Amino acid sequence: MSETAVVDMKIDPARASALISQLQGVRERIAAVAQGRPVRLVAVSKLKPINDILALHTTATSPQVHFGENYAQELGQKAALLPRSVQWHFIGGLQSGHCRSLAKIPNLFCVSSVDSLKKAQLLDKYRGERIASSSSEGEEVPRLNVHVQVNTSGEESKSGCAPGADTLALCRVIVQGCPHLRLLGLMTIGAIARSRAATTAEEENEDFVALRAQRDLVATELGLGVDELELSMGMSEDFESAIALGSGEVRVGSTIFGERPARADAKVVV
Ligand SMILES: *Cc1c(COP(=O)(O)O)cnc(C)c1O
Repeated sequence: MSETAVVDMKIDPARASALISQLQGVRERIAAVAQGRPVRLVAVSKLKPINDILALHTTATSPQVHFGENYAQELGQKAALLPRSVQWHFIGGLQSGHCRSLAKIPNLFCVSSVDSLKKAQLLDKYRGERIASSSSEGEEVPRLNVHVQVNTSGEESKSGCAPGADTLALCRVIVQGCPHLRLLGLMTIGAIARSRAATTAEEENEDFVALRAQRDLVATELGLGVDELELSMGMSEDFESAIALGSGEVRVGSTIFGERPARADAKVVV
Protein backbone atom coordinates (compact mmCIF):
# COMPACT_ATOMS: atom_id res chain seq x y z
CA MET A 1 0.00 0.00 0.00
CA SER A 2 2.95 2.36 -0.41
CA GLU A 3 1.26 4.21 -3.28
CA THR A 4 -1.61 5.33 -1.06
CA ALA A 5 0.62 7.75 0.77
CA VAL A 6 0.93 9.97 -2.28
CA VAL A 7 -2.75 9.93 -3.15
CA ASP A 8 -5.13 12.23 -1.38
CA MET A 9 -7.97 9.99 -0.23
CA LYS A 10 -10.21 12.52 1.40
CA ILE A 11 -13.74 11.25 1.67
CA ASP A 12 -16.41 13.92 1.29
CA PRO A 13 -18.88 13.17 4.13
CA ALA A 14 -21.96 14.22 2.13
CA ARG A 15 -20.97 12.00 -0.80
CA ALA A 16 -20.14 9.13 1.58
CA SER A 17 -23.50 9.26 3.31
CA ALA A 18 -25.37 9.40 -0.02
CA LEU A 19 -23.45 6.36 -1.27
CA ILE A 20 -24.02 4.42 1.93
CA SER A 21 -27.73 5.08 1.89
CA GLN A 22 -27.97 4.00 -1.77
CA LEU A 23 -26.00 0.84 -0.93
CA GLN A 24 -28.26 0.16 2.02
CA GLY A 25 -31.33 0.57 -0.19
CA VAL A 26 -30.01 -2.05 -2.62
CA ARG A 27 -29.13 -4.42 0.21
CA GLU A 28 -32.65 -4.15 1.60
CA ARG A 29 -34.23 -4.82 -1.80
CA ILE A 30 -31.98 -7.87 -2.22
CA ALA A 31 -32.87 -9.21 1.23
CA ALA A 32 -36.58 -8.77 0.56
CA VAL A 33 -36.44 -11.09 -2.45
CA ALA A 34 -33.69 -13.49 -1.30
CA GLN A 35 -35.57 -14.44 1.88
CA GLY A 36 -32.54 -15.70 3.76
CA ARG A 37 -30.68 -17.22 0.82
CA PRO A 38 -27.18 -15.71 0.55
CA VAL A 39 -26.79 -13.40 -2.46
CA ARG A 40 -23.48 -11.66 -3.07
CA LEU A 41 -23.74 -7.99 -4.01
CA VAL A 42 -20.96 -6.80 -6.28
CA ALA A 43 -20.89 -3.00 -6.29
CA VAL A 44 -19.94 -2.08 -9.86
CA SER A 45 -17.53 0.85 -9.55
CA LYS A 46 -16.31 1.15 -13.15
CA LEU A 47 -15.47 4.73 -14.13
CA LYS A 48 -16.05 5.86 -10.54
CA PRO A 49 -13.24 7.33 -8.40
CA ILE A 50 -11.39 5.44 -5.67
CA ASN A 51 -12.81 7.73 -3.00
CA ASP A 52 -16.29 6.39 -3.73
CA ILE A 53 -15.05 2.83 -3.25
CA LEU A 54 -13.13 3.75 -0.14
CA ALA A 55 -16.20 5.40 1.38
CA LEU A 56 -18.24 2.19 1.01
CA HIS A 57 -15.37 -0.04 2.04
CA THR A 58 -14.26 1.85 5.13
CA THR A 59 -17.09 4.04 6.42
CA ALA A 60 -20.23 1.91 5.98
CA THR A 61 -21.33 0.24 9.23
CA SER A 62 -21.31 -3.04 7.39
CA PRO A 63 -18.42 -2.50 4.97
CA GLN A 64 -18.84 -3.33 1.30
CA VAL A 65 -16.15 -5.81 0.28
CA HIS A 66 -16.95 -6.87 -3.30
CA PHE A 67 -16.41 -4.37 -6.13
CA GLY A 68 -16.67 -4.95 -9.88
CA GLU A 69 -14.71 -3.33 -12.70
CA ASN A 70 -14.93 -3.58 -16.49
CA TYR A 71 -11.55 -2.37 -17.68
CA ALA A 72 -8.38 -4.31 -16.83
CA GLN A 73 -6.13 -1.27 -16.61
CA GLU A 74 -8.53 0.65 -14.38
CA LEU A 75 -8.90 -2.37 -12.10
CA GLY A 76 -5.11 -2.69 -11.85
CA GLN A 77 -4.73 0.97 -10.89
CA LYS A 78 -7.49 0.85 -8.29
CA ALA A 79 -6.24 -2.41 -6.79
CA ALA A 80 -2.79 -0.87 -6.32
CA LEU A 81 -4.23 2.17 -4.53
CA LEU A 82 -6.93 0.64 -2.35
CA PRO A 83 -6.69 -1.70 0.66
CA ARG A 84 -5.91 -5.35 0.05
CA SER A 85 -9.13 -6.22 1.92
CA VAL A 86 -11.19 -5.22 -1.16
CA GLN A 87 -12.30 -8.26 -3.17
CA TRP A 88 -12.19 -7.34 -6.87
CA HIS A 89 -14.31 -8.77 -9.67
CA PHE A 90 -13.45 -8.38 -13.33
CA ILE A 91 -16.79 -8.32 -15.17
CA GLY A 92 -15.91 -6.65 -18.49
CA GLY A 93 -15.11 -8.10 -21.90
CA LEU A 94 -12.02 -10.27 -21.35
CA GLN A 95 -9.08 -10.07 -23.76
CA SER A 96 -6.25 -12.61 -23.85
CA GLY A 97 -3.75 -9.78 -23.50
CA HIS A 98 -5.18 -8.85 -20.08
CA CYS A 99 -5.13 -12.31 -18.52
CA ARG A 100 -1.60 -12.00 -17.18
CA SER A 101 -2.01 -8.67 -15.38
CA LEU A 102 -5.39 -9.67 -13.99
CA ALA A 103 -4.30 -13.07 -12.68
CA LYS A 104 -1.42 -11.47 -10.82
CA ILE A 105 -3.66 -9.21 -8.71
CA PRO A 106 -3.68 -11.16 -5.42
CA ASN A 107 -7.05 -9.85 -4.23
CA LEU A 108 -8.82 -10.37 -7.54
CA PHE A 109 -11.67 -12.54 -6.29
CA CYS A 110 -13.29 -13.52 -9.57
CA VAL A 111 -13.14 -13.11 -13.33
CA SER A 112 -16.76 -13.29 -14.45
CA SER A 113 -16.28 -13.12 -18.18
CA VAL A 114 -14.30 -16.21 -19.17
CA ASP A 115 -15.53 -17.21 -22.62
CA SER A 116 -12.78 -19.27 -24.24
CA LEU A 117 -10.43 -22.16 -23.55
CA LYS A 118 -7.43 -20.05 -24.37
CA LYS A 119 -8.32 -17.34 -21.83
CA ALA A 120 -9.05 -19.92 -19.13
CA GLN A 121 -5.67 -21.52 -19.72
CA LEU A 122 -3.87 -18.16 -19.63
CA LEU A 123 -5.55 -17.20 -16.36
CA ASP A 124 -4.68 -20.60 -14.92
CA LYS A 125 -1.04 -20.35 -15.96
CA TYR A 126 -0.49 -16.85 -14.59
CA ARG A 127 -2.41 -17.45 -11.38
CA GLY A 128 -0.21 -20.51 -10.90
CA GLU A 129 2.88 -18.31 -11.22
CA ARG A 130 1.44 -15.79 -8.78
CA ILE A 131 0.61 -18.49 -6.23
CA ALA A 132 4.10 -20.00 -6.57
CA SER A 133 5.80 -16.66 -6.00
CA SER A 134 3.58 -15.93 -2.99
CA SER A 135 4.54 -19.01 -0.99
CA SER A 136 8.12 -17.81 -0.81
CA GLU A 137 7.03 -14.43 0.55
CA GLY A 138 4.75 -15.92 3.20
CA GLU A 139 1.48 -14.52 1.79
CA GLU A 140 -1.60 -16.53 0.86
CA VAL A 141 -2.91 -16.09 -2.66
CA PRO A 142 -6.00 -18.24 -3.30
CA ARG A 143 -7.07 -19.94 -6.49
CA LEU A 144 -8.82 -17.54 -8.84
CA ASN A 145 -12.59 -17.91 -9.00
CA VAL A 146 -14.15 -17.72 -12.45
CA HIS A 147 -17.58 -17.57 -14.00
CA VAL A 148 -18.07 -18.78 -17.54
CA GLN A 149 -19.97 -16.06 -19.39
CA VAL A 150 -22.80 -17.46 -21.49
CA ASN A 151 -24.33 -15.52 -24.37
CA THR A 152 -27.91 -16.48 -23.49
CA SER A 153 -29.45 -13.84 -25.74
CA GLY A 154 -27.45 -14.85 -28.83
CA GLU A 155 -26.78 -11.20 -29.69
CA GLU A 156 -23.75 -10.58 -31.92
CA SER A 157 -22.72 -7.66 -29.73
CA LYS A 158 -22.57 -9.70 -26.53
CA SER A 159 -19.54 -11.74 -25.64
CA GLY A 160 -19.86 -15.11 -23.99
CA CYS A 161 -19.83 -18.76 -24.85
CA ALA A 162 -22.65 -20.25 -26.92
CA PRO A 163 -25.07 -22.22 -24.72
CA GLY A 164 -24.82 -26.02 -24.91
CA ALA A 165 -21.72 -27.92 -26.03
CA ASP A 166 -19.32 -24.93 -25.98
CA THR A 167 -20.29 -23.85 -22.48
CA LEU A 168 -20.08 -27.42 -21.21
CA ALA A 169 -16.66 -28.02 -22.81
CA LEU A 170 -15.22 -24.84 -21.30
CA CYS A 171 -16.58 -25.63 -17.84
CA ARG A 172 -15.15 -29.14 -18.07
CA VAL A 173 -11.66 -27.85 -18.91
CA ILE A 174 -11.75 -25.39 -16.02
CA VAL A 175 -12.84 -28.03 -13.50
CA GLN A 176 -10.60 -30.83 -14.75
CA GLY A 177 -7.62 -29.07 -16.29
CA CYS A 178 -7.08 -25.71 -14.56
CA PRO A 179 -5.76 -26.39 -11.03
CA HIS A 180 -5.32 -22.69 -10.20
CA LEU A 181 -8.89 -21.76 -11.12
CA ARG A 182 -12.14 -22.57 -9.35
CA LEU A 183 -15.36 -22.65 -11.35
CA LEU A 184 -17.77 -20.61 -9.26
CA GLY A 185 -20.61 -20.73 -11.78
CA LEU A 186 -22.08 -19.10 -14.87
CA MET A 187 -22.70 -15.46 -15.75
CA THR A 188 -24.92 -13.68 -18.25
CA ILE A 189 -25.67 -10.07 -19.07
CA GLY A 190 -28.73 -10.68 -21.23
CA ALA A 191 -30.64 -8.53 -23.66
CA ILE A 192 -31.62 -5.02 -22.60
CA ALA A 193 -35.10 -5.47 -24.01
CA ARG A 194 -35.68 -8.58 -21.91
CA SER A 195 -34.39 -6.81 -18.85
CA ARG A 196 -36.79 -3.88 -19.40
CA ALA A 197 -39.66 -6.30 -19.91
CA ALA A 198 -39.07 -8.04 -16.58
CA THR A 199 -38.01 -5.69 -13.81
CA THR A 200 -40.02 -6.99 -10.86
CA ALA A 201 -39.49 -10.16 -8.88
CA GLU A 202 -42.71 -11.59 -10.37
CA GLU A 203 -41.67 -11.31 -14.02
CA GLU A 204 -39.45 -13.95 -15.65
CA ASN A 205 -36.56 -12.85 -17.83
CA GLU A 206 -35.78 -15.38 -20.59
CA ASP A 207 -32.04 -14.88 -20.25
CA PHE A 208 -32.13 -15.76 -16.58
CA VAL A 209 -34.25 -18.84 -17.23
CA ALA A 210 -31.77 -19.85 -19.96
CA LEU A 211 -28.73 -19.40 -17.70
CA ARG A 212 -30.32 -21.52 -14.99
CA ALA A 213 -30.92 -24.28 -17.56
CA GLN A 214 -27.26 -24.10 -18.62
CA ARG A 215 -26.18 -24.35 -15.00
CA ASP A 216 -28.35 -27.43 -14.48
CA LEU A 217 -26.89 -29.02 -17.61
CA VAL A 218 -23.28 -28.34 -16.63
CA ALA A 219 -23.84 -29.57 -13.06
CA THR A 220 -25.40 -32.82 -14.27
CA GLU A 221 -22.75 -33.48 -16.90
CA LEU A 222 -19.86 -32.75 -14.54
CA GLY A 223 -21.38 -34.68 -11.65
CA LEU A 224 -21.81 -31.61 -9.44
CA GLY A 225 -24.78 -30.58 -7.33
CA VAL A 226 -26.68 -27.55 -8.67
CA ASP A 227 -25.80 -25.80 -5.39
CA GLU A 228 -22.13 -26.09 -6.28
CA LEU A 229 -22.47 -23.74 -9.27
CA GLU A 230 -23.86 -20.26 -8.75
CA LEU A 231 -25.56 -17.90 -11.17
CA SER A 232 -24.24 -14.36 -11.62
CA MET A 233 -27.12 -12.44 -13.15
CA GLY A 234 -28.98 -9.23 -12.46
CA MET A 235 -27.95 -5.57 -12.67
CA SER A 236 -29.57 -2.29 -11.56
CA GLU A 237 -32.60 -2.74 -13.82
CA ASP A 238 -33.39 -6.34 -13.08
CA PHE A 239 -31.66 -7.71 -9.99
CA GLU A 240 -34.87 -8.55 -8.14
CA SER A 241 -36.15 -10.61 -11.05
CA ALA A 242 -32.74 -12.36 -11.22
CA ILE A 243 -32.75 -13.25 -7.52
CA ALA A 244 -36.27 -14.64 -7.81
CA LEU A 245 -34.89 -16.98 -10.51
CA GLY A 246 -32.04 -18.18 -8.30
CA SER A 247 -29.22 -15.69 -8.83
CA GLY A 248 -26.44 -16.02 -6.25
CA GLU A 249 -24.65 -12.85 -7.31
CA VAL A 250 -25.98 -9.53 -8.56
CA ARG A 251 -23.82 -6.80 -10.11
CA VAL A 252 -25.23 -3.37 -9.34
CA GLY A 253 -23.62 -0.11 -10.42
CA SER A 254 -25.69 2.96 -11.18
CA THR A 255 -28.27 2.39 -8.43
CA ILE A 256 -25.45 2.66 -5.89
CA PHE A 257 -23.04 5.12 -7.52
CA GLY A 258 -25.34 7.15 -9.78
CA GLU A 259 -24.92 7.67 -13.50
CA ARG A 260 -21.46 6.97 -14.89
CA PRO A 261 -19.31 9.55 -16.68
CA ALA A 262 -18.25 8.88 -20.29
CA ARG A 263 -15.22 6.61 -20.31
CA ALA A 264 -12.96 9.36 -21.66
CA ASP A 265 -13.88 11.66 -18.78
CA ALA A 266 -13.50 9.12 -15.97
CA LYS A 267 -10.71 9.62 -13.44
CA VAL A 268 -9.50 7.00 -10.96
CA VAL A 269 -8.33 9.76 -8.62
CA VAL A 270 -10.17 13.07 -8.30
C1 LIG B 1 -21.81 -2.03 -15.92
C2 LIG B 1 -22.15 -3.43 -15.65
C3 LIG B 1 -23.02 -3.78 -14.59
C4 LIG B 1 -23.74 -2.75 -13.73
O1 LIG B 1 -24.69 -2.08 -14.47
P1 LIG B 1 -25.76 -1.08 -13.79
O2 LIG B 1 -26.86 -1.05 -14.76
O3 LIG B 1 -25.06 0.23 -13.64
O4 LIG B 1 -26.14 -1.66 -12.49
C5 LIG B 1 -23.23 -5.12 -14.34
N1 LIG B 1 -22.65 -6.08 -15.08
C6 LIG B 1 -21.83 -5.80 -16.11
C7 LIG B 1 -21.23 -6.91 -16.88
C8 LIG B 1 -21.57 -4.47 -16.42
O5 LIG B 1 -20.77 -4.20 -17.45
